[in-house]
Amino acid sequence: MNFETFNFHPSIMAGVRALGYTTPTPIQAQAIPPILQGRDIIGLAQTGTGKTAAFVLPILESLRSGPRGRVRALVISPTRELAEQTCEVINGLASRTGLQSAAIYGGVNMDQQTRNLRSGIEIIVACPGRLLDHLWKGTMSLSDLEILVIDEADRMFDMGFLPDIRNILSCIMNRRQTLLFSATMPENIRRLAREILHDPVTVQVNRQLPAKTVSHVLYPVQQHLKTALLKEILNGTQTDSVLVFTRTKHRAERVAQQLVRAGYRVTSLQGNLSQNQREAALTGFRNGSIKILVATDIAARGIDVLSISHVINYDIPESTDDYIHRIGRTGRVEKNGDALTFVTSADAPKIRALERLLNAPLGRMRLKGFDYTKPAPDQELRHSQRPRRRVVKNQGIGKQMAIR
Ligand code: AMP
Repeated sequence: MNFETFNFHPSIMAGVRALGYTTPTPIQAQAIPPILQGRDIIGLAQTGTGKTAAFVLPILESLRSGPRGRVRALVISPTRELAEQTCEVINGLASRTGLQSAAIYGGVNMDQQTRNLRSGIEIIVACPGRLLDHLWKGTMSLSDLEILVIDEADRMFDMGFLPDIRNILSCIMNRRQTLLFSATMPENIRRLAREILHDPVTVQVNRQLPAKTVSHVLYPVQQHLKTALLKEILNGTQTDSVLVFTRTKHRAERVAQQLVRAGYRVTSLQGNLSQNQREAALTGFRNGSIKILVATDIAARGIDVLSISHVINYDIPESTDDYIHRIGRTGRVEKNGDALTFVTSADAPKIRALERLLNAPLGRMRLKGFDYTKPAPDQELRHSQRPRRRVVKNQGIGKQMAIR
């Protein structure tokens, strides 16, 4: 199959060529025809499958004719990064169509966004909170909406956006085509789909399974040795861009600082950053000036960097869904990738769940020459017979005091 099969207008095919796509991915092959027919769809596809172009291309085809300068398609995204990236795909594919798109999310000046919206835009990609701000202030109207996309619906639910989504839906009065994409289909998303979709077609790609081009391996290690092991692996491995995942934003920050001190070009992406810092981190990672990005699950949502060769789970993810999302960043569209997961003895149940997901036992690796027996710093202290520090809270001002 090739893109000619869909009979897209030459102005859209020019965009397809500009992005270098030659063969539709499976989700594109399955989803584009029913979307072009005007059907509602449920797309079960993880990031990395080409799902964005699967909804963007038929949207462009459908908006190509008809009025300009009004919001006729809306994509709701869980994070600003995903919103920006979806906008980039739209800009690339729509470059010859004259259709305009804009990303709308919080943390940036609202007046500037309002001016942008007034300049006449047909496709909006928005995060729920800021979108509602605009709708309630009357700086944006959805009265001309023809197509609504709810992207990464399961993540939207995880982030607590479902009430916002319902509020947005209540602002859309006219009959529309609705496309709902989700990597997984928990009951609450199923319920939402039943309520808002009309006779949907379900298209499903590799549900629950990571791309076959990724190899998975575990590195058993004690918690306090993880950073040392990470450095050893980075030292001895040929890598392109590397994405490191930690469980908390505090840990993402700390690991990034430790790697910077060890001389790596690295940055962190976590909830504590300002919008400018996030953008600088992402731009550096995308253009290759920063080779290592340390991130949390939520912050890394939607990161689309084709050259990611390794995903390193500094902390094993909380759920198998998170595992799929994390490693969806490597091995993208026919590329190979490695997923390395550091595990401690407390992670046994999560490892079993992963092995069930992958339907195979995972290989355990031991790095040659690495000292796995080095005690934790507080143990060293005990060994050297130094008096232990007792930390008490100074109740008056809540500061920490060390007492010997
Ligand atoms: P997505 O799942 O939408 O995040 O897409 C993952 C990556 O695949 C993006 O970098 C896209 O640019 C790329 N991609 C999407 N469709 C195709 C295609 N038909 N051929 C090659 N690459 C594609």
